[in-house]
Amino acid sequence: MVAMLPLERTVRQRIIDLLTDTRLSSYQLAQRLGISERQVEDHLVHVVKSLTRDRSRRFLMEPAACLDCGFVFRNRSKLTRPSRCPTCRSEQITDPRYGIDSLRAKPQRLDRSASSE
Ligand SMILES: [Zn+2]
Repeated sequence: MVAMLPLERTVRQRIIDLLTDTRLSSYQLAQRLGISERQVEDHLVHVVKSLTRDRSRRFLMEPAACLDCGFVFRNRSKLTRPSRCPTCRSEQITDPRYGIDSLRAKPQRLDRSASSE
């Protein structure tokens, strides 16, 4: 049986697949998905929301940083790249990168002796 999924949903699922256990910028995601960075950022907002209810995965964002003075945009709530450094006014800002980490599925049991890592 073939289910026809809405396009929006399949794009978000592909974003989740692409980000799992790696880090990519919105530019890199846009290249892989064949959509604009603006569209990637719109989808990311929904991906973040859906993953907050998912105990097996966690969305992470490496914040943008200024290449000239090292300022890190830690408190930035938007997913987009800032255009200018607030301390030195430089426009040499790195892209924020996104990723999804898979978490261990058994939060109830802490069986350290069985770990082989
Ligand atoms: Zn700076």
